[in-house]
Amino acid sequence: RAKKDGRNGYCFFTPQMQARSVRNLEVENALRQAVARNQLELYYQPQISAVDGKLIGAEALLRWHNPELGFISPAEFIPIAEESGLILSIGEWVLRTALTQLKSWIDRGMSPIIVAVNLSAIQFRHATLPQLVSTILDELQLPPEFLELELTESAAMHDPVAAIDIMNNLHGRGVRMSIDDFGTGYSSLSYLKKFKVYKLKIDQSFVRDISTDPEDKAIVNAVIQMAHSLGLKTIAEGVETESQLDFVRSQLCDEVQGYYFSKPLPAAQFEDFARRDRNMLY
Ligand code: C2E
Ligand code: MG
Ligand code: MG
Ligand code: MG
Repeated sequence: RAKKDGRNGYCFFTPQMQARSVRNLEVENALRQAVARNQLELYYQPQISAVDGKLIGAEALLRWHNPELGFISPAEFIPIAEESGLILSIGEWVLRTALTQLKSWIDRGMSPIIVAVNLSAIQFRHATLPQLVSTILDELQLPPEFLELELTESAAMHDPVAAIDIMNNLHGRGVRMSIDDFGTGYSSLSYLKKFKVYKLKIDQSFVRDISTDPEDKAIVNAVIQMAHSLGLKTIAEGVETESQLDFVRSQLCDEVQGYYFSKPLPAAQFEDFARRDRNMLY
């Protein structure tokens, strides 16, 4: 963002900044329309037990296809949604849609699984979030333990004292929390200990070269050991190969998620995947 000089309103952009802000505005306007027209979609990626290969959860991930702009990644549009304030209505839509989907899967006979929903830092800090979560769960008559809220490590550590209160509130309502992209932020272990979290999600950047990079091996081993000694579960993100799977299992990682099992899927395809009830590890 260009800085505006306070006194004379003088503003200057480099060509790259200008190109970026034009694109941002274009995406922001299109996103506003997409929200109003209900054009966002959720895909679901399986989360699997590393112990017995059972399906235990689904991470809900936003997908957006715009007729003019094409597919836009959440990595691009989530920050724009945060800057423009759209994130609160998008976040509420994601919560409601993911839980409504879970309810309908259960009603159709699928064994209950956990639905994991990503929270933006802004959504997490918004005062009405805990009540909103309870209201949606009540409306759908779903027990709170079917919901897991994923918060990135950097969002949790941004204001850890405030985060403790919010997590206590959500935990009191029976909702689980996990720390996403763990290892990429700056965790203070003394705060981590005070967070009411259930699971650490080991960032995929550590998993990618795990078969060849001794330092990544050491990091993943250390995170799993630390998590377990704090009574937390672990899930490895971005598992794409059998050798990555073998390594994280050898370190007693609890759960796995990644293209090796499945890409994020539209709801109907996720349901087909779930119905093939089997050991999904091999
Ligand atoms: P994340 O929550 O860490 O999600 C994991 C990302 O890794 C997803 O990208 C997923 O499609 C991708 N992924 C999963 N398995 C593999 C694999 O084996 N290999 C590789 N290379 N990638 C894999 P996606 O869907 O593009 O989402 C990117 C980020 O956007 C998410 O990272 C999350 O931070 C954010 N995001 C997505 N949906 C939402 C949402 O509903 N709300 C909020 N606040 N953020 C969201
Ligand atoms: Mg996530
Ligand atoms: Mg992640
Ligand atoms: Mg991420």
